[in-house]
Amino acid sequence: MQLSFHGAASCVTGSCHLLDVDGFRILIDCGMFQGGDEMFRSNLKPFGFAPDSISAVVLTHAHLDHCGRLPYLVRQGFSGPVYATSPTRYLSEIVLWDAAHLQEEHLPEKGRQKGTHRPSSRSTAYRIADVIDTMALFVRAAEYDVPVNLAPGIDATFYNAGHILGSASVQITVSRPGRKTRILFSGDLGPGQPALLAPASPPEDSDYVVMETTYGDRLHRSFEESKEELLEVLSDTYSRGGKVLIPTFAVERAQDLLFFFREWKSEGRLPGRQPYFLDSPMAINVTHIYERFPMLLADRLLEQFKKRKDPFLFPELKFMRTVDESRTIAGAGPRAVVLAGSGMVSGGRILYHLAQEAENPRSSLVFVGYQAEGTLGRAILEGRKTVRIQGVEKDVRIGLHSINGFSAHADQADLLKWCGSMKVPERVFLIHGEHRSLSSFREKLENTGWKNVHVPALHETVELTEKMSSRTGRVAKR
Ligand SMILES: [Zn+2]
Ligand SMILES: [Zn+2]
Repeated sequence: MQLSFHGAASCVTGSCHLLDVDGFRILIDCGMFQGGDEMFRSNLKPFGFAPDSISAVVLTHAHLDHCGRLPYLVRQGFSGPVYATSPTRYLSEIVLWDAAHLQEEHLPEKGRQKGTHRPSSRSTAYRIADVIDTMALFVRAAEYDVPVNLAPGIDATFYNAGHILGSASVQITVSRPGRKTRILFSGDLGPGQPALLAPASPPEDSDYVVMETTYGDRLHRSFEESKEELLEVLSDTYSRGGKVLIPTFAVERAQDLLFFFREWKSEGRLPGRQPYFLDSPMAINVTHIYERFPMLLADRLLEQFKKRKDPFLFPELKFMRTVDESRTIAGAGPRAVVLAGSGMVSGGRILYHLAQEAENPRSSLVFVGYQAEGTLGRAILEGRKTVRIQGVEKDVRIGLHSINGFSAHADQADLLKWCGSMKVPERVFLIHGEHRSLSSFREKLENTGWKNVHVPALHETVELTEKMSSRTGRVAKR
């Protein structure tokens, strides 16, 4: 049995791992490399295996760095089944349509029509037609904790990872006479107390663990403190008579914010009657998916659904689907709260609102997520004094705030706790992290008794020894 690492090896994005069990080849995630044009070009390089040799794909969750190259795999000849939880299937469809749409924008013929063709690069790993072909390959949805049979003697079990709706750690179990080997892929792990979801619940016993380490070297700022900080910005901006602009990721972060706003409204902690706009068709669609799966949400949200209350809605909230609706926000009065994409101000409707408010010192621009190098969000955060939006130069006089405690990822303490809930495996592979994070977490883990820790290189293949079925593990010291 061989395991190879074709993405998120010594970097964060592009998750893609191949488990070969006597020729039955399971691909765990098929993610996109993200972060600038050069990283995007990595998506057009060969996978490191023949796409038509893959027997099945297992998806841990719907983020682009885990599902974003799946249509490219299909375009290159993969035609087997795709296994995922039901929310992951629906969220992937939204996320992949959006990704294909963005790539089609960069096609030479489309670009020429609009006079915007940038010969750079982003054309084109796949098109919308490939996404449609991909969605047809999703088979009956997996439920948490219930094994799904992939092939004779090979099962996959999905366990809640607490990261985004439907996210899973997946354990592959290979059963042979007298032998049983379990390989656990963490997927992305959520924080110890996710805002909307139940915390991660991994299986107790695995022989091999492949584990993410995005924040393996740091602790997040307290979630409650961050909420208070946001509430303060909303109140201050309201009393100054300005708008609050929040560049928002469509999956999870937008729903987190709607939930907080509703909570504060019902507790009487959020002043005023100004409108709240969710100005992102993608975030609106994602919110409907969250509403469709209340049983997968944290107890306090489920309780509200049981009382026929929607924990994401309140009377002042308006969903803006069309561009025409979006443009009416500018005339909605001096006070309003606007959630719009993209989350890093690198495109989307937030640009229009920023152009309107950039020179207004009474308004606030609030970053609630990571701003990558090379994005406009990062440049503004680092103090750029003017921005050029849609051809017009604007001074940046809007109030700037960065609130960092809303991560959907586990921090170092959460990752160690996740490990502490399991028996020590035979071997662990650390992936999905930058160099500093990988080496820092490796040291931490070794100190807790997980001795056989390996950081694989891109395209490295390791041999996994099969285990006798009566193995008993020992519990790690915390
Ligand atoms: Zn993720
Ligand atoms: Zn990820």
